[in-house]
Amino acid sequence: MHYAEIKRCDIANGTGVRTSLFVSGCRRRCPGCFNLVAWDFDYGYDFDEAVQDELIESLRPSYIAGLSLLGGEPLEPENQEALLPFLRRFKKELPEKDLWVFSGFTWEELQAGEAGPLTGDVLSLVDVLVDGPYVDELHDITLRFHGSSNQRVIDVPSSLAAGEVVEWQDDPVFATRGADSWVGSHDLPTHSKMAAAKG
Ligand code: SF4
Repeated sequence: MHYAEIKRCDIANGTGVRTSLFVSGCRRRCPGCFNLVAWDFDYGYDFDEAVQDELIESLRPSYIAGLSLLGGEPLEPENQEALLPFLRRFKKELPEKDLWVFSGFTWEELQAGEAGPLTGDVLSLVDVLVDGPYVDELHDITLRFHGSSNQRVIDVPSSLAAGEVVEWQDDPVFATRGADSWVGSHDLPTHSKMAAAKG
């Protein structure tokens, strides 16, 4: 697998301060995609052992909440194959950290096996999944952690246990979408369309 970028101390792609890995390769071709170069599976750098060691070390400090995977498409079958051993290592060495995945696949597509045979194993390690393709016409700047209103922020362990989508519950202080909210849209974290659209 190749990856396009690693962002350390990222605060846009999940809760808290995180390390984010942008993998290469995506077949979805969403109109308005923020990251055309990452459609190419050969783009960027080799996801070799040295890089994986570096990632683990970047995640060790107590102020780092967890790892986020974006792209490209982290759940393309060949990317899952490369990521699964690394994710198992991550969860074993750093069990207190969480894992967020931003995917163009919907929950229903993943459950139907459209992302290949490893999907169940990968999802068993994921805490939060932001699902579905970015849709430019549904772009909404007030959304936290997703770029368009068709995408959902999913609590994966609860969804797997329930057998249906259970949406992740944000901290109430960030519930900015109600008309009577005390936080105006001008106070929202200015995560860009690029960061929120997904990987
Ligand atoms: S927005 Fe994401 S899923 Fe859609 S084409 Fe771009 S990288 Fe792929």
